[in-house]
Amino acid sequence: MVLQAIDLLKNEIPLEQETVNLSEDSVTGLVLVDIINGFCTVGAGNLAPREPNRQISEMIKESARVARLFCEKNLPIMAFLDSHHPNKPEDPYPPHCIAGTDESNLVPALTWLEEEGNVTIRRKDCFDGYFGSMEADGSNVFVDWVKLNHIKTLVVVGVCTDICVLDFVCSTISARNRGFLGPLEDVVVYSSACATFDIPPHEVATDDTKQALPHPQEFMHHVGLYMAKERGAKIASQLSFVAAGKA
Ligand SMILES: [Zn+2]
Repeated sequence: MVLQAIDLLKNEIPLEQETVNLSEDSVTGLVLVDIINGFCTVGAGNLAPREPNRQISEMIKESARVARLFCEKNLPIMAFLDSHHPNKPEDPYPPHCIAGTDESNLVPALTWLEEEGNVTIRRKDCFDGYFGSMEADGSNVFVDWVKLNHIKTLVVVGVCTDICVLDFVCSTISARNRGFLGPLEDVVVYSSACATFDIPPHEVATDDTKQALPHPQEFMHHVGLYMAKERGAKIASQLSFVAAGKA
């Protein structure tokens, strides 16, 4: 049997995932990272998929299902939307998700969230939603949201597993460890509602965008989850709610 690079990697850094039971005795918050057209809708921009992609469509389907569940339970949701000023590039990436364009809006499967009372939408102009939540006066919309809602467990989903999802998880866990996040205990990354993009190594030379780094999808998705786990996040392959008093 010939081992593929991905199998070799998974042998070197195996990732154990778990079933995470969310107790209804305490508040769980959901963070949706960048599930927007510019990253997820075919042909929607420089960083959008060029053809239908299974990992991305599964991520959209699963995050919509989880978001619906959180809305039914009236649990707090925060959605980060990458939204850039046209004159402020974000290297090493080409222009993307310019504020005011449809690229920076939620994908069609999630636009209904805009009307839900338990949803906070936060536009951010950097990779990391934690820093993207900072205001000029030093206050932080995400930190305030965690405290105001008494969030004890945070579930994180979205794109890209190894970039904006990972950056947000790293910052959030460091802030929690320093005691900045009040009641927050657990950060859970729900893997089937996360995705990343695909630029196989052989496509880099012919790639006509500024993006020049190879980025094999399954490989980088695995690495992103592994690095989140290295910071202390729980990596969930399944999520379920446990009724109050039963945990
Ligand atoms: Zn961006």
